[in-house]
Order: sequence, then C-alpha cells, then structure tokens
Amino acid sequence: MKILVINSGSSSLKYQMFDYENKTVIAKGLCERIGIANSHFKHENASGYVIDEGRSFKSHSDAVRTMIEALLDPQSPVIESLEEIAAVGHRIVHGGPYFAKPTEMTQESKDAVRKCFPWSPLHNPANLTGVEVCEKLMPGIPQVGVFDTAFHQTMPPKAYMYGLPYRYYEEHNVRRYGFHGTSHAYVARRAAELTQCDKDQQRLITCHLGNGSSFAAIKGGQCIDTSMGLTPLEGIMMGTRSGSIDPAIVSFIAKLNDDATKDVDYILNHESGVRGVSGVSSDFRDLKAAAMQGNERAQLALSMFCYQAVKIIGSYIAALGGIDSIVFTAGIGENDDRIRKTICDDLSFLGLTLDEGLNASTHGEEVLISAADSSIEVFVIPTNEELSIAIQTVEVLGLA
Ligand code: AMP
Repeated sequence: MKILVINSGSSSLKYQMFDYENKTVIAKGLCERIGIANSHFKHENASGYVIDEGRSFKSHSDAVRTMIEALLDPQSPVIESLEEIAAVGHRIVHGGPYFAKPTEMTQESKDAVRKCFPWSPLHNPANLTGVEVCEKLMPGIPQVGVFDTAFHQTMPPKAYMYGLPYRYYEEHNVRRYGFHGTSHAYVARRAAELTQCDKDQQRLITCHLGNGSSFAAIKGGQCIDTSMGLTPLEGIMMGTRSGSIDPAIVSFIAKLNDDATKDVDYILNHESGVRGVSGVSSDFRDLKAAAMQGNERAQLALSMFCYQAVKIIGSYIAALGGIDSIVFTAGIGENDDRIRKTICDDLSFLGLTLDEGLNASTHGEEVLISAADSSIEVFVIPTNEELSIAIQTVEVLGLA
C-alpha cells in the first residue's frame, strides 16, 4: 500500500511517498519558492533517480502537478497510476479545539481548518491549499488532515486554561493547544514499545529540542501537559523565539518603540531565543563552537536553554506524580550529547544516571542512553513526523 504525505507551506511543498508495509520512503521531493522567482524542484526515488532543477511554480497547483508527473515519470516510475495511492496525509499545524485526532478532509472539516486561521495565519491557509489542490488533481483519493495540536487535546482544563478573563476562552478559544504533536506522539509510541515499565502507567516526558522546542508530559500514552501554548511561542527559549517571558515585557517593548520597523511579535518570534541572547546564531552547532572559543553570551544562551529545560522537566515530573522515562528527539535532542548531558546531570538528584559513553556516541540513532542502574530510563529516539502522519492516516481510514 502506498501512502503520500504532504507538508504544504506558504511557498514550499514537501512530499514523501511511503511503501506502508515496509514503512520505507520510496520517493521524496521538495517544490521551493512557489509563487516567487527562481522556483526549484527536487525529487528522488528509491532507485536513485534524481530530478534537481529550476521549474516554474506559479501556484501550489503547479507544484502538485509537477510532483505527480515525477511520481509517474516513465524514466523511473514510483507508481504506474494515481490509483495506487491509497491515501494522502497532510500536515496541518493548527486544529484548534476542533480536531482531537487525524480527520478525513470533507467540506465540514475544511471549514473547521479555516476557523483555525487566526491562530496560525502563516501555516494553516497553506496547509489547506495543499489539501484542496490534491482533491482536485487526485480525485477519489482520500485526503486526511493530521494536526500538530491534536495529540495534546487530552490535556485537562487545568493544564490548558490561562489565567485570563473566561470570556477570551468562551468567545475566542484562547487556551493552550501545544504543537509538535505528531513528533511527541511518534516518539512516545516508540518509547512505550521500548520501555521496561508498564506502558499503560508509563510516566513519560518527551523533549522535542530543535529550532522550535517543546516538551510533553504523557501518562499511559495520553498527553497531560505541554509547553507550547496558543501559539508555538510559549515554553522554553528556542532558536529565535523568546519562549515564556513576563507578559508585561510585551507592552514595555512596544512602548519603547526603539525600532518602529518591527512589531513586538516579530522581535519575540524572530530576534529572540538563543540567537537574541548570544548575538551569534540560532543554530546550536554555531553556538557550541562560539562557546568553546570563550564567547560568554553563547555560553549564557546555552546554559539558559538547559536550565529552562530542567525547570520544565522538573515541573512535569511533579505533574505526572513521578517519572519513568525521558525521551530526547529532534535536531538538538538527537544530536547534541552535551546538551543532553547537562540537562540529565541536573536531574541526577533523582537517581538519573547516564551511560556517558553511549550518550557521547549517540547522534541520530535510537538508543537507551541511561545507565543500567538509573532510576529513569533516558532514550534518544529520532523523530519521524512524515512516517507518523502516514501511520495516523492509515489508522484513521481503517486501511491497516
Ligand atoms: P530541527 O528543527 O529538528 O531540524 O533542529 C534544528 C536544530 O538542530 C539546528 O538549528 C541545530 O541547532 C540543531 N542541530 C542539528 N544537528 C546538530 C548537531 N550535530 N549538534 C548540535 N545541534 C544540532
């Protein structure tokens, strides 16, 4: 069975085709700079056939048409006909209060995706465009929306409500939603398969540490809390996002108005985080290099990041009433053994001990990095959001 996964952004469209039985990627590609000059197409399949060239993408329709042509390319076909595609899974960033699970796209569900536009004005419209174009160009093939927020819909009200006048929740759905849900769900599922403890009772914290970072507290497979909020700005400081700050700072910066070309939203989303503090970069590899050379602000940014991670993990241990396992995933979580060690060392008072050698040698593989006598299992589990979308698409349609 073949499942196509699409991540449609405002100016790009990424896709992966899965051979579902083997869970392998048999083709993938990227249409870049849609609607902008110098658009580019890259496609490769499992036989090593590659297309890598400039193409004109005036719209998402052009991009999807080009993807279909490449999949059917007689020189190295991935499929002989579109009918071989059992379903298409679409990444959709914000499902608001409307989607607690992946959902087949109908007129009603598309209308609900539209209602989420105000909370995700950059992503949701582009995600929905991807759905609508595929409906048109692949008629009859089920289209499924898989939502970054859905996994967190099991949070209780005490975790998702903000201390604001209740009418903002009642009238405008202002509440915590959380993001990176497909990633948290995927690594949590893997951790449940790998764990030594009872999976129905497992108290797990998943740490998705990448350019955007978030944490989820998960009990018996259900999310009970997560660090991102109404938008992906809340929680730990990130590459360029501030994370949680005193809300009064927003009006303070706005009143300062020291750079009228930028609004506070832009400063908090694009000029803050480890980049803002260090003045060096949002990329942890650059930060590490600068810190090693004695750059004090890079050192400060890295230590702030780890300290905030430990505080969130500590609060989630309290929320979960204890802890069995911690998972590190995404670019930093999978690759940066120093960050993992710093965070885990600060949790050693709980009896957490790392296998130092294993931690130092683990970069992007699935490994249990805690020592045999550790009170908490610590895993590195590479995330795979595309495979997670494919699995959820198949499950919701009952195709498995
Ligand atoms: P992601 O958003 O999951 O793609 O993660 C991207 C971030 O992962 C980058 O900004 C880097 O800071 C970080 N990263 C990737 N590889 C490494 C590495 N080998 N060591 C440290 N950080 C890394």
